[in-house]
Formats: sequence, C-alpha cells, structure tokens
Amino acid sequence: MQAWKIDEDGWCDGAVRYDSPYCDARPEGVEIDLLVIHNISLPAGHFGGPHVSDLFTGRLDYNADPSFADLCGLQVSAHFFVRRDGALVQYVSTDQRAWHAGTSTFEGRPQCNAYSIGIEMEGSDFQPFQPEQYRVLLALTAALARRYPLAQVRGHEHIAAGRKTDPGPFFDWDAYQQSWQLALRGQPALVLTTRALGFPSVV
Ligand SMILES: [Zn+2]
Repeated sequence: MQAWKIDEDGWCDGAVRYDSPYCDARPEGVEIDLLVIHNISLPAGHFGGPHVSDLFTGRLDYNADPSFADLCGLQVSAHFFVRRDGALVQYVSTDQRAWHAGTSTFEGRPQCNAYSIGIEMEGSDFQPFQPEQYRVLLALTAALARRYPLAQVRGHEHIAAGRKTDPGPFFDWDAYQQSWQLALRGQPALVLTTRALGFPSVV
C-alpha cells in the first residue's frame, strides 16, 4: 500500500473527506499522543450504508430506522472511519478535536478527545473485522505516527470502561501490534517519529 500523508491542515490524502460540524479547537499546546479505536455500524450490525457518515456530519434521517430515535440530537464525530472494504473516510482534521470519546480518562488524564485521534472501524462487538480494514488501519497509523508524537493506542472500552465496549472482543489487538512491529522494521523513520507505540495488553 502506498504510504499516506497527513497534510499540513490535518487531512489524510488516502481518505475521502466529508466535513463534520462536530469538532472544535484542541486546547492550546496539547500534544496528540493517543490513538483511540472504536467500532460502529448503523443500524447496529448492518454495513455499507450511508448512516454513519450521515450521523457524523449532522445529516442523519432519524426516521430511516426505528433504532435511530436514540441518536436524535447526538452531536458526535470521529476523525476517521474505516469501512468493511477498506475505504477510508475522514470527517475532522486531525489538528482539530473530534467528539468521539465522550467522558473518558487515560492514565489519569481526563477528556481524551483533547489529545487523541479517533478511528472508527465499521463493525460490531459480535463479529470479526475484515483483513482489508487492518491493512488500512496500519497504513493510517503509520501516516499519523509520522506527523504526531503518538505513544499509545487504546480502545474506547479502555478509556471509558463500564460505559463503552468497543471495539470489542473481535478486534485483533495482537495482529495490529504485530504488524506495527513489522512496519517499524521496514520503515526506520517510524521508529524515530514515534515513541514505542504501546498497545493494551491483551488477555
Ligand atoms: Zn466508541
């Protein structure tokens, strides 16, 4: 896969861009050092439709499915969405704060949105993700690591424990971590531009 680049405005050249209104400025001087992985599908367990992008861009038709009534008035976004076929969508510049984590804490630091980048994997807690999604996630991680001082990656379930369960038991942290180690060997520049990218310990 061709190496992607995050441009100076925080947009990835490998992504289709749909601008979300649900973002704001990061706090002054904050270091972006955390990746947060999520899963989402709308309706839950249905893939390929327009509804996730519609939700994140404020265009969701709340009548399109009975389950969408619960989403009414919700103002949420993520920086990226990795579809089942590996297509990558970006809603918010990585220099901006996307609204993906909600109430959250990581290593004693509250409000993870301020210092993290949020990546949504199209999926659910109940079935495996697609190989193409992991390939895109890895390429995206590498592009982000070349631009920001990333040090850790966690799931939403780790930073909002008891409240969130995504990306869930079918997200393959081992495979992601192993391919990251391989990527480091193949691209020495990544070693220089990331600290040791820490993954959650998988049990
Ligand atoms: Zn989430």
